[in-house]
Amino acid sequence: MNNIDNIIEYIEGSNDYIVTSHISPDGDNMGSTLSMYYFLNKLNKNVYYVLDDNSPQNLKFLVEGIKILKSDEVDIKDYSIIALDCGDKKRICVSEEILDNAKSIICIDHHASNDHYGDINYIDIDASSTCELVYNVLKRYSDSKSSNIIDEEIATCLYTGLATDTGNFAYSNTHPSSFEMAKNLLILGAKRDNIIQNVFQSNPYNYYKLLGEALNTLEIVDNKIASIEVTKEMLKRNVINFNDVDGITSYTRDIEGVEVGILLKEKKENEVKVSLRSKNYVDVSAIAKEFGGGGHIRAAGCTVYDSVPNVKKKVLQEVLKSI
Ligand code: AMP
Ligand code: MN
Ligand code: MN
Repeated sequence: MNNIDNIIEYIEGSNDYIVTSHISPDGDNMGSTLSMYYFLNKLNKNVYYVLDDNSPQNLKFLVEGIKILKSDEVDIKDYSIIALDCGDKKRICVSEEILDNAKSIICIDHHASNDHYGDINYIDIDASSTCELVYNVLKRYSDSKSSNIIDEEIATCLYTGLATDTGNFAYSNTHPSSFEMAKNLLILGAKRDNIIQNVFQSNPYNYYKLLGEALNTLEIVDNKIASIEVTKEMLKRNVINFNDVDGITSYTRDIEGVEVGILLKEKKENEVKVSLRSKNYVDVSAIAKEFGGGGHIRAAGCTVYDSVPNVKKKVLQEVLKSI
């Protein structure tokens, strides 16, 4: 049996679930978790969506009417966890107690840095997104029942993760199978216009004020590395949440000649979230790993506990080694 069949067999044989994902939610995180939540609901399973972090503003449309619980709000026994889009057990965004008491962890993920922490793992580091893997599970399930389980809501969730993780079908993780999946999801009723407008075309005015300030910190090193800083004061001044500025990372990589882009985002004093992107050849997942993080070859991240200038110095030093 392959991993997809193992997962389907497990799900059919067990009743209680927590679905969750990584800290700092993104479109693939929420799209894959929510599509799994809908799937389990349709199978009449008892399922809770748990995530101890705030949804970005541009993804709230996806979870309207859905209750995302915090760990201390859940009362469930004999449950299994399905962890989606999370490459590292430490990043699963539920309490340690919930993690420790789960009877099994099922991991569905596409991070290059994934260490197969689940009891059942379906990991494909070449997949565009975790949504593509959930799509494969749901398609296999549909085929086995000769009846389609992917409705408009599920298609919309899956399309969201596919579109966001591929930069709208632009990044090198976009394969022919991604277009095939997109085509099928559109046929199945994915609300593409709604997704695009909410995710990419609904930035508040304040976001641009913040972006202006952030772009003023842009620095290019050796013509090949670009970095931008977002401090907690900038976020506060412009009334923008920490989880609502990840899009700024693209500005670093999108500069002519730049191979590695870095966004330094200050969460609190001496805690900086670093986002790394590369264009052609640098493995940023390996750089992130040096700082205890991980990710993909072309998109990775880590958290470094120091001041913004010091973190910048340390990360630049590592990046320069790989250029
Ligand atoms: P981000 O820069 O937050 O958009 O993340 C880029 C990619 O790296 C995503 O796939 C994240 O899930 C992953 N990532 C970010 N931070 C970490 C971390 N601290 N540890 C492992 N993976 C991470
Ligand atoms: Mn993600
Ligand atoms: Mn992903």
